[in-house]
Amino acid sequence: MSQTSTRQSPDLEQARAWAAAAAVPDPEIPVVTVADLGILRAVELVDGVAVAKVSPTYTGCPAVLAIEMAVEAALRDAGFEARIERVIAPAWSTDWISEEGREKLRAYGIAPPEKTSHSKRGLFDVQPVACPRCNSQNSERLSEFGATPCKAMYRCLDCREPFEAFKCL
Ligand SMILES: [Zn+2]
Repeated sequence: MSQTSTRQSPDLEQARAWAAAAAVPDPEIPVVTVADLGILRAVELVDGVAVAKVSPTYTGCPAVLAIEMAVEAALRDAGFEARIERVIAPAWSTDWISEEGREKLRAYGIAPPEKTSHSKRGLFDVQPVACPRCNSQNSERLSEFGATPCKAMYRCLDCREPFEAFKCL
């Protein structure tokens, strides 16, 4: 283990590590960060190593590995030794997406997921989805899968625009 003196207090170093990891954009939706999505749970300094706790989103989502590698790279770029710890439980839920993240998704044209609160919805339950452009709930689902397995394709019946919606989990 290196005995190099830290110039900053451990708290500041931890905050710096969090900031570096939290700024990593989602590889599929670059307008939101891994922190916005709630995928990055925590960054802890353990014996000088930044340990990033990352929760996979949808099981089998191919982005998970890319996200883990990007977070690790961001921490290394910030001068940290880095390690990723995958946190399976509690399982990630779309409820973890921050309000800021939801706004960013909407602005990007992706309908953010509704908060599921207590009742856990099935992945394929049909829920009214508000159009991110005109906010009409008068939408129809075109396809179960959008550009990625995490999203479904919808079309707004009022403004006629197709859009993607995050599936609720
Ligand atoms: Zn619309």
